Amino acid sequence: MTSTIPDKMNSTSRTHYASQLTKEHIGFEVIVAGWIEDFRDIGKLGFIMLRDVSGLVQTVLKGENLLLARNIPRQSNVLIIGKVQDTKSKNFSVELNVGEIIILSEASLTLPIDPTGRVESNLDTRLDSRALDLRNPKVLNIFVLRSGILGVIRDFFSERNFIEVNTPKIIGSASEGGSNLFSFDYFKTKGYLAQSPQLYKEQLVLSLDRVFEIAPYFRAENSHTLRHLNEFQSVDMEAAYLDYTAVMDLVEEMIKRILVFTKDSKRIEFENPLFEQKTFENLTSKPFPRIRYEDCITELKKLGEKVEFGEDLSDASLKKLGEKFDKFFFILDWPLDLKPFYIHEKEDDPKISKSFDLQFGYLELVSGGTRQHDISKLKSRLEAQGLSHQSFRDHLRVFEWGMPPHSGCGLGLDRLLMVLSGVNNIRETVLYPRDTTRISP
Ligand code: ATP
Ligand code: MG
Repeated sequence: MTSTIPDKMNSTSRTHYASQLTKEHIGFEVIVAGWIEDFRDIGKLGFIMLRDVSGLVQTVLKGENLLLARNIPRQSNVLIIGKVQDTKSKNFSVELNVGEIIILSEASLTLPIDPTGRVESNLDTRLDSRALDLRNPKVLNIFVLRSGILGVIRDFFSERNFIEVNTPKIIGSASEGGSNLFSFDYFKTKGYLAQSPQLYKEQLVLSLDRVFEIAPYFRAENSHTLRHLNEFQSVDMEAAYLDYTAVMDLVEEMIKRILVFTKDSKRIEFENPLFEQKTFENLTSKPFPRIRYEDCITELKKLGEKVEFGEDLSDASLKKLGEKFDKFFFILDWPLDLKPFYIHEKEDDPKISKSFDLQFGYLELVSGGTRQHDISKLKSRLEAQGLSHQSFRDHLRVFEWGMPPHSGCGLGLDRLLMVLSGVNNIRETVLYPRDTTRISP
């Protein structure tokens, strides 16, 4: 992209994005490229509203250009060479007086969806035509924001000496002992898709000290909710010499930074009440509440829920807690029995684990904890959960090589995007979602 004004028109490549044109450019010839969102014909004059990834520009056509424009289907891709001029339009600061219009690729006359969003389509129809759906600025903005947030996350971790890693997604045995793994033929043996990088990232702190990974998890769960997919992106981190409360501090700091970035990006539709000034100031300046699991149970009982200490929190319970504590809050110190074998117990209360979840209302965003680094305790925890040492042999041996104490967490990126963009279906925040009934496009 160039933001300088061209002095001669001897090329047919784009000189500006639509949104870059300002009054400073008046009198200069520029080239823009994009798709025809709208065409208005008032007889002697016509107007093409040209959209590109950055926004919209109004272009004015006369004579032969107008005749040509009448026959170009909407959504076709064109290159427009024109002179920037002042405009009477209230919606634009300048417009383009078209000198030449070059058709790059014609769109078919009947399209599966209307990407301007004026004619609404249901989500399934939109997902079937996702590439076109992204021409709708509301949709596109979610993914531009998502890309920006990935940058924020990478900066956040590298500023704190975390090393970005890529662990394998094709694995040879169950990673965490769960049964929800996709399996497939792998030459003469069986392969699985990783349900999380948990064991690898723990092994890596042995030498790398602090690691993070942004990668897909695969879960063969037959769920039909608005917050579960079978392939989703997670931001995972693991750090030596930190305990779970320090990880909570990091997560909180990172989420606040992402909130500020999101507001500044002006990308999302600010119908999302999260970004109203007062709410936003509260969220970014006050600590997120931290509520112990035990106190959640007491609270739920007061609210009339039938729940006992030791039970997992049902959707109904999480909804009630979400109403009570609102927005972001941590639930910490879960019963050890509810947690996977690699979670550390509290020294002064071994039935309780050093673990936490970050919630946004009913929605779980992050799970984390201090990990067990004592190999003999790790082995007894495996046994207690009915898992064999043999199948975790490769993992366990690493703990004999001087494993530092460590903690970490996994954050569901697609769920975080739901919160930021104010949508209630995770499928809106994933380009090509995979669920029990959708495996294409
Ligand atoms: P849930 O209880 O909501 O099913 P979980 O406890 O099974 O989630 P974890 O194993 O803790 O999930 O995964 C870490 C994070 O990944 C979760 O906190 C959540 O944000 C996200 N996540 C988990 N499962 C899914 C899924 N099926 N689809 C999308 N995101 C998910
Ligand atoms: Mg969890």
